[in-house]
Amino acid sequence: MAAPGKVAAFRLPPLPTIGEIIKLFRLKALKQLSQNFLLDLRLTDKIVKQAGELKNAHVCEVGPGPGGITRSILSAGVEQLLLIEKDARFIPGLQMLSEAAPGKVRIVHGDILTYKMEKAFPKHLIKSWEDEPPDIHIIGNLPFSVSTPLIIKWLENVSKRDGPFFYGRTQMTLTFQKEVGERLTANPGSNQRSRLSVMAQHLCTVENCFVIPGQAFVPKPEVDVAVVHFTPLVQPKIQQPFELVEKVVQSAFQFRRKYCFRGIEFSDMRNLQSLHHGLPTLPHV
Ligand code: SAM
Repeated sequence: MAAPGKVAAFRLPPLPTIGEIIKLFRLKALKQLSQNFLLDLRLTDKIVKQAGELKNAHVCEVGPGPGGITRSILSAGVEQLLLIEKDARFIPGLQMLSEAAPGKVRIVHGDILTYKMEKAFPKHLIKSWEDEPPDIHIIGNLPFSVSTPLIIKWLENVSKRDGPFFYGRTQMTLTFQKEVGERLTANPGSNQRSRLSVMAQHLCTVENCFVIPGQAFVPKPEVDVAVVHFTPLVQPKIQQPFELVEKVVQSAFQFRRKYCFRGIEFSDMRNLQSLHHGLPTLPHV
């Protein structure tokens, strides 16, 4: 678990509020893109604190939008901040923030699902997998339609030690729909235990940090939001290729749904290690 870090290690000059930025650049949230903004900087500070100590760290923020979380990350005294934003309308507002923190911000107008994270940070930050995590963090409040496929892609990257994990056990602090956050962190035997729980927990320490009520966002989404922190494990709990684990776990949970069969206790992921190729008779995950 990351020790919550401090914020306000760097003071940004006076800037328009996030609400004023939204008006100034006419950044109306696009419902079809599931855009919901955080305007309360105490809340964005609270999210950023979950990442741990960020002083002099290298951070990638995915989907900065009007820049609320971005301000909190800069206030934490980071060395470098890489912003990856798909919607071009946000770039001028982000440039204004970049000018307020000279030399610290790099803005990429692009899609996080295709961006090559292997080249995102300086090579001297690389740590060996068995070492402490590198001083690199990923933070983001993305639309739910992006955050779930993205975490599955990044879990695969964890298992292959590529993408953002080319640098070592890079930590991530991301938001999800509350129910997805519960599934990611569900214990064996819990009703929420799912494919996502096993895939995430066999590769990472996963912590459900806190829930943000929907009304904290503008416009308000229909659901509450969970902030989830991931630290890749030195040793995955199931030492098999990602694709095989995914296939076996998918079959196991389909089986459970189909027959409501209490016989699969989903309690011991390590037993999956004994699997060879093909599917198990009754795995304990
Ligand atoms: N982080 C801001 C906040 O908390 O107020 C904005 C949050 S809004 C829910 C999601 C942001 O992610 C939007 O700015 C949207 O344009 C951006 N986004 C959506 N899909 C993206 C993608 N594939 N790659 C990068 N940014 C994306």
